[in-house]
Order: sequence, then structure tokens, then C-alpha cells
Amino acid sequence: MFIVLFLFLPATTPGEHETLNYSQFLANVSAGHVETVTIGANGQATGKLSNGRTYSTVIPAQAGQDFLTKLEASDVQITATVPGVSFGSQVLSFLILLSPFLIIGFLWYRMSKSAGGHLQGVLGVGRSRAKVFDAERPSTTFADVAGYEGAKLEIREVVEFLRQGERYALAGAKAPRGVLMIGPPGTGKTLLARAVAGEAAVPFFSVTGSSFVEMFVGVGAARVRDLFTEAKKRAPAIVFVDEIDAIGQRRSGTGAMVANDEREQTLNQLLSEMDGFEPAAGIVVLAATNRPEVLDPALLRPGRFDRQVTIPLPNLSERRAILEVHCRGKQLDAGVDLDVVARGTPGFSGADLANLANEAAINAVRAGRHVLLAEDFAEARDRIILGRREGSNVLLPEEKQTVAVHEAGHALVAVYSPTADPVAKVTILPAGQALGATEQLPAVERHMYGEDHLYDMLSVMLGGRAGELVLLGQGSTGAANDLARATELATKMVREFGLSSRIGPVGYPSGGSVFLGGGGAALSSRPFAEQTQAAIDDEVARLVKEAEQRASEILQDHQDVYSRLVALLLERETVDGDQVYALAGRAPPGGGATVSPEDALHLAGRGEPGQPGGRAASGSSPDTRTSAA
Ligand code: ADP
Ligand code: MG
Ligand code: ZN
Repeated sequence: MFIVLFLFLPATTPGEHETLNYSQFLANVSAGHVETVTIGANGQATGKLSNGRTYSTVIPAQAGQDFLTKLEASDVQITATVPGVSFGSQVLSFLILLSPFLIIGFLWYRMSKSAGGHLQGVLGVGRSRAKVFDAERPSTTFADVAGYEGAKLEIREVVEFLRQGERYALAGAKAPRGVLMIGPPGTGKTLLARAVAGEAAVPFFSVTGSSFVEMFVGVGAARVRDLFTEAKKRAPAIVFVDEIDAIGQRRSGTGAMVANDEREQTLNQLLSEMDGFEPAAGIVVLAATNRPEVLDPALLRPGRFDRQVTIPLPNLSERRAILEVHCRGKQLDAGVDLDVVARGTPGFSGADLANLANEAAINAVRAGRHVLLAEDFAEARDRIILGRREGSNVLLPEEKQTVAVHEAGHALVAVYSPTADPVAKVTILPAGQALGATEQLPAVERHMYGEDHLYDMLSVMLGGRAGELVLLGQGSTGAANDLARATELATKMVREFGLSSRIGPVGYPSGGSVFLGGGGAALSSRPFAEQTQAAIDDEVARLVKEAEQRASEILQDHQDVYSRLVALLLERETVDGDQVYALAGRAPPGGGATVSPEDALHLAGRGEPGQPGGRAASGSSPDTRTSAA
């Protein structure tokens, strides 16, 4: 505006313009050339000359009565003006007055916008952050959730309840208040909730547990209140709280080391909203967690989450169904058998399988194809379990020899142990953390293990180290991981499974999450005496030593087969299970027979017993690099 005024104002005066000094002006007046003069307060004067041109000049303040008399004498038309009322200067002065306010207002606007609603966040701190799906729903449906028919049925029923409450009311049934989905990570809990949101014909509020938690005490409770007020207004409605363990953790009793006021208030509010003095009618709370053991007991009692749906890791047929869902829209080669893929992925969660299908597709693209082959799946699976494959040339020749001896040891002990899981593949190609791997496939999907099976598992784990001692005469750092796992299993056998006659049938579980594979040592002291600990240590050492002894005997008894397998491994780097059995002159047992060498997918063992969530990788025997060596 300033620039426009500056340029525009002078241009309003006509082109024929003269600037005169005082003497010239006086001369013009005397000569009678001046027709009009307009005198401003500060002495500026403008006017018209008799030749039609305009002029401007400045009249000194000292010019007094004489000057006026002279003008009058020359018959000049005189006008006088009062100071500074031009339109331009008026606008300018307004602008200058307003500018601080304008600048502050602009900054305010910018801040509240750019800081992601920081300002608004502080002002609206007690507002719930739930995302509401009402008319616009996610496109996920129950068809996208493969398997878990039982869980789906149960959740569907709750949705039905909301839709046709009268039917249930007729039978005198009260609507369930809440459904808690419990399961290891990646098994599709959030997916299931999304399917509910997609299919339920009622408003769906989705919120994560952690979004209740704020810096200020009381905010979480206010948010819970707000969420339920909002939901009540639109009842019947479903409220989904993902990762509810963020707020639902056990409230601290006496003797707790740390109390968390904010979380406890939030939980209390949630408890009373769900089943308090004023129970919320027509609202079902759906929640998901993978740590049910930390939840407050009050949250789990009937009237709150009266239904608990466990969503375990998928079994064989469910894995197949999940793979099918994720292979929709991908072109599979005729050689891809999803049954084989499903069989080779025990312990995989739904998320792992989704990842597997995606990695396989990426492998195909990398090879310049758009049709997925069986080997794409095999490669993807190995990559997920073991990590990226490296060429064998990263190993020194003598290291390669040691790895071959080690892996062949695992494989042969497995072959000659009657109840061990069949060997599916032996490789000395380093991948990820492992320098080599022996993969075992359980013939059937096991849910529990006999004692004989555990002893054989121990000897197979120690087969690598025993082999090194038998053939090379010394151990190596490559067995560190085997030993740790064997010790862990042996400790469990003694402490938890009651398999040691000296300790007897007592169980001291190490505690921790069922799903996350043990939570480490408990904070409290051990529940048994020092002497018991010493006895446990002795027994563990005995079990592991005996296992090593058995492995050594097996390998010594079949030393010729052993040497041939090592040579074969060094030559080919990867040897199929069937070849190992052929070399040993044995028929591949039960389930192994269904896996032909052509099946590019080689199958891994299952997690350790007593650990349902054990990763698939723990069944195979990747030998970690211990780099210090
Ligand atoms: P969480 O149980 O940890 O909440 P999610 O529901 O987020 O797991 O699942 C992660 C991903 O795994 C999903 O997006 C989906 O792609 C895949 N997935 C898991 N379970 C299934 C299933 N039963 N059917 C199809 N896909 C599944
Ligand atoms: Mg989730
Ligand atoms: Zn090993």
C-alpha cells in the first residue's frame, strides 16, 4: 500500500507542472502570470499559471503582509488550507496504528496452525482423541481376517447385540459391556477391530490407550469421560481401545515402589464409566492387548470386560488362510503350494505372514518377474527367520570348515535321535547373525512335548559343539548361542517341568509375559532357598553335559557318514534334509517325507516348549557370530 500510494499520488497531478523557487514565483506574480495560489500551513503553495500550467513552490515563513498585499495587487486568487488531511496520509497513519495488532494476530494464527494445534491442544486438553467412524468406514471386512472363526463369531455376536438388542432383551440377556482381545503381537487384533468398524452399522470410536496419557494429572480421566459422553450421545456405539495396557495396568497396592497417579485416575474413570453408578447403556467397549497379565483385575471382572477372546498364533490351516488373503491380487506360479509355505512357517504371526507374502513379491520384482515362484517364498522365509543371506566368501576357509563340522553335527544328531524333529535343510551360508543353520521341521504341529523329545532337543542343540570336539579336537565361539539355548531349556526342565529327580515335582516359573517370552527375573526375591538354587544349577549342568555326551557318542559311532556330510556341505553349501537322510541310510521320518527336495521351501522347527510364542527361528539352529573370535 505504501508503494502504491507513493507511486500513485504524484501521478494524479497533470503533466504540465513546474517547480518554482520563491524568486521565480515572485517574478511570475509581478508579471501577472499567476492566476491562483493555494497556500498550505507549512508554506507549500500550489496553483495555476495563466498559461494553464500548474506550479508548486515554497513560501518562506518570513514573507509577511507585504507578500499578501503583492498577491492581491496582482489579482491572484488566494486559497489557504489547514494542515495534512490528504487521503493518503490518513490511510498511512491508520496502517501504522493498526500494524502491531495485525502482526500479533498473524503470528497467533500461524502458531496455532503450524504447531499442529499445540495451542489448541493446550486449550482443549481434556478432549478425547477418539477417531469416530460413522458414515465413512474403513473398507476392511471380516473377510479380510482369515481364520479365527471362534473369535470372529464372538465379536460378531456383540455387534449383533447392538443392532438388535430387543431380541436379546426378550430372552432376558444383558448386553456384554466389553470384549477384550488378548494375543501376541501381529495376530490381527487391530485388524479385527477395523473389520468391526467396517461392518458394524453403529458409530465406532477408535482410540489407543496411550493417547489418554498426558503430562497433566487428570487429563486422561477427563478424556475418558469425554469419550464416553460422546459415545452415549450416539449410542448404540462401539468404543475400541487399542493397546489398553497403557492405561489398564494394575493399580499399585501397598508396597508398590512407584505409583502413577495419572494412570490410576484414568483407569478409575474407565472402570466407573464401564460399570459404575451410571452404567453406559448401549455401548460396547472393545479392547486389545498383548500383555493381559499386567491388566488390573478390576478391569477383567464380569460387567466390564466380560468376554475375553484369546487370539493365539495361527495354526497350520489358519496360516494357510492368512497366506491366501495376502496372496490375493498377486500372481502365483503353479509351483507355489501355499500348504507347503504354511507348513514351513510355524510360529509365524499374521503380520509375519503378511510380511512373507510381501517379501516374496519383492523378490520376484528383483528378479524381473511379476509372477511369484516357490523359491521367492523360500527366500523370503529364510530372510525373515535368519536375515539377509551373504555369500559364503565372507568366511575364511578354516572358518567354513568349522561351520560345516558344526552344522553337520547338529544335523546328524537330529537324524539319529529317534524323537527329534526331522532335518529339513543344512546350510553353511551365513545369513544375518548366523554363520550357518540347521533347520528342523516338526512332523506334526505339537502342542506339548514328552520328556524324550526334550532330551533329544538338548542333544541336537549340543550336536554342533560335540561335532567340533570330535572332528577338530577343540570347541569354538560358534556354539555360544546353542549353549545359551540349551541351558535355558535345561533350566526350564528342572525348574518348571519337574523333570529332575533331585529337585522333584516342584515348579518355579520364571514369570514374565506368556506371549513375549519371559519377562526376565522378577523384582522380588527368589521363591526358593540358596541350596535349591545350587541344586538347580547342578542339575542343569548335568542335563547339558549328558546331552553333549549323547551327541558325541552318536557322532563317533557314525564318523564316516559325518565326514562325508561335512565334505558335501563344503562342496554345495546347502544340503537338503532328504540328502542327509540318504547319506545316513535312513528313511526320512513321517512328516518329512511330504517335503520333497524340490519343495524350495525348507521348514523350520517350532519354538521351545513352554513358550507358545517362541519364534520359528528358535527351532532351527542359527549359530551366532561371536565376532571377538
Ligand atoms: P495386532 O494383533 O498386533 O494388533 P494387527 O491387527 O495390527 O496385529 O495385524 C498386523 C497385520 O498382520 C495386519 O495388518 C494384517 O496384514 C496381518 N494379519 C494379522 N492377522 C491376520 C489375519 N488373521 N488375516 C489376515 N491378515 C492378518
Ligand atoms: Mg494392534
Ligand atoms: Zn549350532
